Amino acid sequence: MHLIEVRDVYKIYNPGENQVNALDGVSITIDEGEFVAIIGQSGSGKSTLIQHLNGLLEPHNGKVILDGEDIWTKENRKKIRQVRFAVGLCFQYPEYQIFEEDVYKEIAFGPKQMGLDDAQIDERIRKSMEFVGLSFEKYSKKSPFDLSGGQKRRVAIASIIAMEPKVLILDEPCAGLDPKGRDTILNLIKEYQSQMGNTVLFVSHSMEDVAKLCKKVIVMN
Ligand code: ADP
Repeated sequence: MHLIEVRDVYKIYNPGENQVNALDGVSITIDEGEFVAIIGQSGSGKSTLIQHLNGLLEPHNGKVILDGEDIWTKENRKKIRQVRFAVGLCFQYPEYQIFEEDVYKEIAFGPKQMGLDDAQIDERIRKSMEFVGLSFEKYSKKSPFDLSGGQKRRVAIASIIAMEPKVLILDEPCAGLDPKGRDTILNLIKEYQSQMGNTVLFVSHSMEDVAKLCKKVIVMN
């Protein structure tokens, strides 16, 4: 059984005269532990596709299957939040969505939503900060807004990792960073994937990064 199966999915924005057929019968499979890249020109539907994988968007037609379950059946749509916890999505420029007054609270947000207790949340924060290379002692009480661009990005990624998603999806995680910042992020994604053995999908326009990291590539057209 595949971990994720997208079966003949159609997504139409603004149905009617000015409609956009953003996904036109897309089928893909992702297996447990795979490290997969999604590439394709701007406007080819990459963002639309990944938002279907964690149930943020509902297909116009077709099925999204996670762990053998169609996520949009009448029963399953009631627990669609579970899909969002299982499939962590880190948007492009995720630091723009940072809103808490310190790093600790920022990373705590997701685990709190999951209903974990304070001790568990604390442990998740320490672990994920270590993962992204930010010292807990030095940074947990700092305002995220006082950090550098690359550090903010790492806080944003930590806040997703802290939910320990089965699948981690990153949309252009290196966009806008300098070469050193890019290397840091790429290395931490690589480490995350190899250490945790979790499934990782990442959208990229850099063939160099894709070739370095992934064995499987999905091309959107
Ligand atoms: P990519 O991530 O590859 O750049 P997108 O999934 O963002 O592609 O977009 C696919 C197509 O859908 C594009 O033509 C885009 O303009 C359109 N689109 C994306 N989001 C919306 C939206 N919310 N409303 C209308 N059209 C959209």
